[in-house]
Amino acid sequence: MSVDKILHRAERGERISFEEALTLYTQAPLDALGEVAHRIRLRKTDPQVVTYLVDRNINYTNVCITNCQFCAFYRPPGHPEAYVLSYEDIGRRVEELVAWGGTRILMQGGHHPTLPLTWYEALLRYLSERYPTIEIDAFSPSEIDHIARLEGLTTREVLERLMAAGLRGLPGGGAEILDDEIRRRISPKKQRTAGWLGVMREAQALGLATSATMVIGFGEGVHHRVRHLQRLRELQDESLRTHGNGFTAFIPWTAQISQANSLGRSRFRDRYGAGYDEYLRLVAISRIFLDNFDHIQASWPTQGEEIARKALHFGADDFGSTMLEENVVSAASAFTARKPRMSVEDIHRHIRMAGFIPRQRDTRYRIVG
Ligand code: SF4
Repeated sequence: MSVDKILHRAERGERISFEEALTLYTQAPLDALGEVAHRIRLRKTDPQVVTYLVDRNINYTNVCITNCQFCAFYRPPGHPEAYVLSYEDIGRRVEELVAWGGTRILMQGGHHPTLPLTWYEALLRYLSERYPTIEIDAFSPSEIDHIARLEGLTTREVLERLMAAGLRGLPGGGAEILDDEIRRRISPKKQRTAGWLGVMREAQALGLATSATMVIGFGEGVHHRVRHLQRLRELQDESLRTHGNGFTAFIPWTAQISQANSLGRSRFRDRYGAGYDEYLRLVAISRIFLDNFDHIQASWPTQGEEIARKALHFGADDFGSTMLEENVVSAASAFTARKPRMSVEDIHRHIRMAGFIPRQRDTRYRIVG
């Protein structure tokens, strides 16, 4: 089928197939993709509004034994720069967020070799008792898998215990490319595709808020990217059908390749990374292909403000969050290394410059304030 026909069908609300997505990916002009994606977005979400979240990222530890090739954030156990934040330290960061009018924390860390599940449970209790208005979204499917292995428990048991201690959402980190051909190469010690999807399936069935992510630029092919999207779409169909709680949003970005990570130091360095056009193409294709997702988030931390604004005309309807601090992608020289936070005023300015009305939301995309 021709590009025009596929785009026409997608705009009418028809689902496009894997092969059709490949055709769009490889043959459609970027502007045409963006226009259709934007029209779909205007139909699906409030056409005048772009949402954002006031939150804080907290990385409770940088100690990790998983050594992903693209990661510049982790330190091996015993390294002089290795840290584990105390509960009090984390609490102080949450207090700053409360003063900012924030509504949630996003807390993630490395795969620490000895922190027991009780450490995570006590942390969640400590925070939820002291800061009851703050929603705690924390960990990721790969952290849940790591804790389960350490403890000899199932991932579902770990999720249930963390929820009982105050966990409200499981962010979609660690997805990178959901295809084992790529995962085996860039993160051989990390959970495979089925594991990531399996933990998300359980989290959704338990009622947690979840998001889906994707990182491009690992030397993957277009078919790997579309397969990733297809796996998300299938799980979303299943979760919405069985219990009505699927991913709240899809959040794509590009791999940050630098001298600070193994991929950036490799002799194949030129094969890695992805430019702005590729990023915008992915945003548009995801809006068109993921017909069962309501929200697509633009990524200012990795793309910078200008491209994030542009993404709002390529299918994205959300500007992400203030973050207050960012340590993971910053470690590989992302935009956030120079600008680790964005004020609410800045976010409003960017959304207005793009022609929309800014509205603050919570994790589940309900308008607040
Ligand atoms: S991406 Fe996560 S799991 Fe991989 S090395 Fe970095 S901290 Fe560890």
